[in-house]
Formats: sequence, C-alpha cells, structure tokens
Amino acid sequence: MSKRVLIIGNGIIGLSSALAALRRGFDVTVLDRNAPHIENCSFGNSGMIVPSHFAPLAQPGVISQGLRWMRDPESPFYVKPRLSLDLMKWGARFYMATNADQVAAGSQLLKELHLASREMYCKWQEEGIDCSLATRGLLMLCNSQHGLQEEAQLAQKALQLGIPASVLDPQETAALDPNITMSIAGSVYYPKDCHLNPTQLMQSLRDKVGSLGAKFVYGKHVLGWHEQSGSIRAVRTTSGDYQADEFVLSTGVWSDAMSKPLGLKIPMQPGKGYSLTLPEPVQLPKICSILVEAKVAVTPIGSALRFGGTMQLGELNESIDPRRITGILKSIPKYMPKFEPSDFEGIEPWVGLRPVSPDGLPYIGRTSGIRNLVVATGHAMMGVSLGPITGEMVGQILAGEPTGIDLQLASVDRFRD
Ligand SMILES: Cc1cc2nc3c(=O)[nH]c(=O)nc-3n(C[C@H](O)[C@H](O)[C@H](O)COP(=O)(O)OP(=O)(O)OC[C@H]3O[C@@H](n4cnc5c(N)ncnc54)[C@H](O)[C@@H]3O)c2cc1C
Repeated sequence: MSKRVLIIGNGIIGLSSALAALRRGFDVTVLDRNAPHIENCSFGNSGMIVPSHFAPLAQPGVISQGLRWMRDPESPFYVKPRLSLDLMKWGARFYMATNADQVAAGSQLLKELHLASREMYCKWQEEGIDCSLATRGLLMLCNSQHGLQEEAQLAQKALQLGIPASVLDPQETAALDPNITMSIAGSVYYPKDCHLNPTQLMQSLRDKVGSLGAKFVYGKHVLGWHEQSGSIRAVRTTSGDYQADEFVLSTGVWSDAMSKPLGLKIPMQPGKGYSLTLPEPVQLPKICSILVEAKVAVTPIGSALRFGGTMQLGELNESIDPRRITGILKSIPKYMPKFEPSDFEGIEPWVGLRPVSPDGLPYIGRTSGIRNLVVATGHAMMGVSLGPITGEMVGQILAGEPTGIDLQLASVDRFRD
C-alpha cells in the first residue's frame, strides 16, 4: 500500500508539493480550512517568476530605507508598531541577516531555486498545466538616476551570479515594449524572468493534482496535532481527525503559529500586499515590470493589467488601508503617464498575506524534532516563483531522495535557540 501524505494548505506550495508527491507514488490528500472558491495568497498576486530577485529581503540599507518610509502613510512599506515579542525577535533576526556574507550565500541559493523553478514552469506548460506562461523577461523601470544606479549595481551582481541582465536607456527600453508610453531614466532588463496568470495556474495545478488521484478536503481548520514520541499520528480539525504516514506543513503565513505546539521555531511575519487589476487598461505592456522606486509590480494578464504592491509587516488580517492604495495609484503615472488614478475607480483591491521569514529565505525540509513532518513555507514575495522547485524538493524529501540543491540555509531548525 502507498504511504499516505497529508498536505496542509492548498496554496501554490501545497499544490506543487502534492504534484511531486503523487509523481512518486504517494497517496496524497490536500486539506485546507477554506472552501475551494476562497482565494489564498496564491491567487491575486503579481504572477512573476523572478530570477532577478536573487537578493534576499534582508540586506544592508533596507532598514534605513524602511525607517524613512515609515513616516509616509502612502509609502510601499510599513510596520504596525506594537508590543509583540515575536515581532521584536523577528526584527532582531532580520537585522542579523543583513550581513554581507549571509546575503551572498542567500543570493546563491535563491538564484539556484528561481532558475530551477523557471525550468519547471516551462515543462509544466508543455505538460498541459496551463498558466499562460510568458517567457519575455522583466523590466526594472527606474524614474530617477539614483534608482537606476542602484539597479545597475544589482545587475552587475546578477551577471556575476550568471543571471543575464542588461542596463538600458529609455530608448532601448521603449524598443523592447513599444506598446507603452514610459517616463523613465532607464531600466534593467532581466530576460530570464517570466510572468503568468496566477489564478489560472492554481486552477490548472489543482486539476492536474486531482487527475493524478489526490483527494481534496476543504473547510477543515487544523486546530492541533496528535503527536507521540516525535511522530505525528493525525491532525485535529474543526470536524474530525485526519491520519497519515507523512505530513506536509504548507500553510503560508499561518505556519509559524501552527508549528509552535510541535516545538518548532519558524519565525514569520505577515507581509500584507494589494493588487488592483484593470480589465481594459489604456495601454497593455507585453513585458512585466517593476516600478523600482515605488515598489509596484505591473503584470499583463491576458488583456488585463495588474498592479501589485505594498509590504505592511505584522498585520495578520485582510483589512485594506486606503492610503497605501492611494500610494500605489499615485506612483503609476510617474512611470506610465497614460495611466491616471481615476482609471481605477470601481476596481476592488485584492489583499494577500505573504509569509515573510526574517532572513528572506524559505523554510524547506524536515525538522529534528518530528520524524514524519516536512515543512515548506516562508516564501515571502517569491512563493509563485519558487513553487515548483519547492514542491519538487518536498517530493524528494518524502521519498528519501537527495535534493538536487543544498538546503542548509533554508533549514527549518535554523532559528532554534
Ligand atoms: C500583492 C502580492 C503580490 C505578489 N506577487 C508575487 C509574484 O509576482 N511572484 C511570486 O513569486 N510571489 C508573489 N507574491 C507572493 C506569493 O503570493 C506568496 O509567496 C505565495 O502565494 C504563498 O503561498 P503559500 O502556498 O505558502 O501560502 P497561501 O497561498 O497563503 O496558502 C496557505 C493555505 O493554508 C491554509 N491554511 C492556513 N491555516 C490553516 C489551518 N489551520 N488549517 C487548514 N488550512 C490552513 C490557508 O487557508 C491557505 O489556503 C505576491 C504576494 C502579494 C501579496
């Protein structure tokens, strides 16, 4: 009889893990507290696959920039001030992770993961997991000389790591995407980056996983674990227990709280972000882009255009801060002057909670305390990009195969005191 694997969390990480486990002959059940039509963070995001984002979030200079942004209610970054030991510890770990050696090691790992995942998306598309994958690259659009200089330095590091990147002037940028009027100082083009339609991805992946025999259990909130002598026997849910031989924890931003009763320490803060999708934009780019100084992602999705942004750390709720939405809308015409804030009248913002680890790296692997648990979470702003390779490595770990990529830096136990 095949081993039973219970995957908790029906996001991109859970579904990618389910696919890899099914392909290795496991008997897979995916369980989620939500009904199937309720969207998690994996749906309304910007759908970018980003080898360009090889640098972990925790980097020198990020803290001082973050503090400057804190004073501006329309800025793309905010930490809700509150007395929370978890938040303070998270902040201290973030600070410790900004040292140059750790950033360099993390960059190497992220590069390998992003590039491997990109290859897998191309294969998935060929196998019929249709997500409208567009392998046309990504433009980092800068509207200041300072921004362009910083991006050009990052492009140098990308080249050193083997990620193709070219610094372009406004004319060269316009030649790449003539459909769109831009007001910029220049850009960096990353040809290996891609974009896709995240909702379509999630639907296709769910169909694929279902067709390979996975069972889906919706509307069951995991409340706790039945664990004995370092082995989990079952999860306790709002209606009944679910037994399995192996468990995969892929519950995004909720994974930290869920794993605490098992003695794990996987610090995580919610990074709230918004997206707004124009069904009939005045102009439709071919290539996805990031408005660098404003930290807004722009993604063509079919004939629609999505704008995503904001990182509000520490808020585990889906309330919308209208000032941050205003910040996003005001920034767009500074790069794309044909767009106006009034284009967005009547457009409902979508909210998502990114699972953000303090060092900007995911948690992937087993933990020393529990024999039959694999953790896969903490992908912050890169869960879509890193989904396929994370799932593949979960499959490898479940099957006892070596992971092709060294996961020491992504160890689940790295913050155990
Ligand atoms: C505005 C925005 C733009 C983004 N753009 C990009 C992008 O361009 N590229 C990219 O790579 N990433 C992007 N991201 C990040 C990406 O969306 C996330 O990293 C990713 O969706 C996380 O996936 P996940 O599977 O870990 O978690 P989720 O998608 O959040 O799924 C977790 C699931 O676990 C379930 N769950 C939680 N607790 C329980 C419980 N107790 N019992 C049962 N089920 C439970 C939840 O219901 C949920 O369905 C963006 C995010 C935002 C907010």
